[in-house]
Amino acid sequence: MKVFKNINSLWDYCLVCHACKKNRNIEVELGPDIYVYLHKWKKIRNKLIVEFSYRNNSFNDLNFKWTINCNTNKSSITQKNDDGLKLDFNSICDEPLYIYINSSCNCGRSQLSTLDLSFKDNCIVNPTQIGIERESIYLNSSDKKYYLSVEYLEQKASIHRVNSTANDVITSMSKPAITKIINFDLSNLEKTFNQIENILLFN
Ligand SMILES: [Zn+2]
Repeated sequence: MKVFKNINSLWDYCLVCHACKKNRNIEVELGPDIYVYLHKWKKIRNKLIVEFSYRNNSFNDLNFKWTINCNTNKSSITQKNDDGLKLDFNSICDEPLYIYINSSCNCGRSQLSTLDLSFKDNCIVNPTQIGIERESIYLNSSDKKYYLSVEYLEQKASIHRVNSTANDVITSMSKPAITKIINFDLSNLEKTFNQIENILLFN
């Protein structure tokens, strides 16, 4: 499992594409869908601000602003009615709210999804599960090309040998070699190439 001490560390990991070293595009998703509807989100330094509606049975949706401190993993939710009364979100919704992150790069070579980060009463429900659910990356050097996909929950990785054109468009991939080894260090591609080749030797 690839886990992080807080949401900021997870965010930083999501941001960097290890294939091209540029920043990836991050999308924050909100759930559970049957209760809440995401309007917009933004991240300002340590704070992730998520604006959403609570889908209730009355005519009007109730609008909330959820502010998550990505260093402490604590959060607060504020709401204001037209009549000036504030509603406590935790008193109207029993279900934990959660976010997860999808991250992908414009280079098309890497993407990932995080685990759900669930919050109840403004605290993260499982602080040991701030981590990645799955990620994949296309790795190439002058003479080696692999497509690596890691499923952290299933503790499984798939490695394909790749054929591509001169400008790196993938034309075909081998059948995957499946391994239980998932602790690849994608920030060190030379090490990852060596790991992959050792696995393929014995597969
Ligand atoms: Zn990239």
